[in-house]
Amino acid sequence: MTASNDKKKKDFSLESIFNLNLELTKKDREIIKKAYLFAKSKHEGQVRQSGDPYFYHLVATAQNLSNLGMDGIVISAGLLHDSIEDGAATREEIEKVFGVEILFLVEGVTKLGHIKYRGMRRHNESLRKLFVATSQDIRVLIIKFADRLHNLTTLDFLPREKQIRIATESLEIYTQLAYRLGITTLSKALGDLSFKYVFPEKYRKIRNILKERSKENKRNLEQVSRSITKKLVAAKIKKFKLTSRTKAIVSLYKKLIKKKWHAENVYDIIALRIIVPTVGDCYKVLGVIHKNFKPMAGRIKDYIALPKPNGYQSIHTTIFTGHGGVVEVQIRTDKMHAEAEYGAASHLGYKAKQMGLKYNSQDSDWVSKVFRVFSKKQEVGKDDKKNKIKWIQELAEHSDNPEAFDFETRLKDDFFSDRIFAFTPIGDVIDLPVGSTPVDFAYYVHSSLGDTIVGAKINGIFKSLDTELRNGDVVELESRKNESPNLKWLDFVKTNTARRKIKAYWEKHKQDKKY
Ligand code: MN
Repeated sequence: MTASNDKKKKDFSLESIFNLNLELTKKDREIIKKAYLFAKSKHEGQVRQSGDPYFYHLVATAQNLSNLGMDGIVISAGLLHDSIEDGAATREEIEKVFGVEILFLVEGVTKLGHIKYRGMRRHNESLRKLFVATSQDIRVLIIKFADRLHNLTTLDFLPREKQIRIATESLEIYTQLAYRLGITTLSKALGDLSFKYVFPEKYRKIRNILKERSKENKRNLEQVSRSITKKLVAAKIKKFKLTSRTKAIVSLYKKLIKKKWHAENVYDIIALRIIVPTVGDCYKVLGVIHKNFKPMAGRIKDYIALPKPNGYQSIHTTIFTGHGGVVEVQIRTDKMHAEAEYGAASHLGYKAKQMGLKYNSQDSDWVSKVFRVFSKKQEVGKDDKKNKIKWIQELAEHSDNPEAFDFETRLKDDFFSDRIFAFTPIGDVIDLPVGSTPVDFAYYVHSSLGDTIVGAKINGIFKSLDTELRNGDVVELESRKNESPNLKWLDFVKTNTARRKIKAYWEKHKQDKKY
């Protein structure tokens, strides 16, 4: 394990937050300042494992949010996100000083923190659903990403076991969710940081490939950049930004597996990016490039005319640089770039506000966006509503009265609000309606388990069988042979499955006794 090699002085001033988002208004700055001072006093004297003041973690979280273009409310909630659980603040205080919206966000992040990854790969999708269900508001999830992003930079100070748990959770849950929300910058950063803890060997291998390739490519890249710039100017294209980007570790890893670790067959490890104002400019740039550099056959992809299923737009082409090398060039507009890098987050930021798009946290559209990707039978590009419904149907398959499911109404309100996700001791996720009890849980797992249950531990503590389960509870059941269900259970069970099976048991045993 490498020790922290980041010995540069970091800036944790209030200005460091402001400087990352120049579009913050006076009002935004005022509330951020208030939250900054509040958090500072509520975490006074607290120190992180790294030896840094705890307060630095909150400023770093706020910096990440500011960098994503979030507004004063979200950045303030980022500063306050640990103040109730780990600091000296109360929820009443936060509500009084900052209002209900910020309190809602802070409490949401706290709730998310209680769900822990339990390392069952086959349940990752359920766990992702649980994270989304618990967050309720996309902003809660984004604050959690920003929080996790900083925590991943200080993992070296934790015991190995904890490193692995946090890094795996980040890789399997957060990186994926950020990706599905189209927040590529976050997904990439989270993946790059956590990959090395989960797959240290592969990480070293990939880092070596990157090192080798970037050394070899650097001169090549500089030369070709200069020459492209000249050609573009000569063609009277004046407004353009030319940058380069390195492929994210996780996506490079996936590609290397596909190419059987022949790194020389991966052409986009480092790519040139040309960003221009309009779609017309994109094609003009493509024309100039192909006129001056020979393109590689089969590597021209026009994702502007034919966007990827996730909405991604750009033109990709791989060219021979004329110095013995090849390089991928990606051409896109500013708008496509913002969408590709910030996705859902860009809809929450200032550009959306200027365009009069008001974000509505009751709008559950983002939820369907997150889960659309995995819907197997999805018809690409076709009716999004269908996909939404498809996914809800999957949940509804476990529901007890599907006929009462009004899909359209459920879409309008938060369709997670009446489901909970509980765990078996080995990490299986059990999806139940709100108000369910250990008896419902038992019948969901198996009817013979339901019939013989005598006790239940919830999160390690014995509780009565009519206890209402909550999101993330771990339920351990105790059963005894030859026990029978209690008819009183009918007073509190929530699922029709449990109700039906309790009645069926007694129907059957009535007959047993008769004959
Ligand atoms: Mn935190």
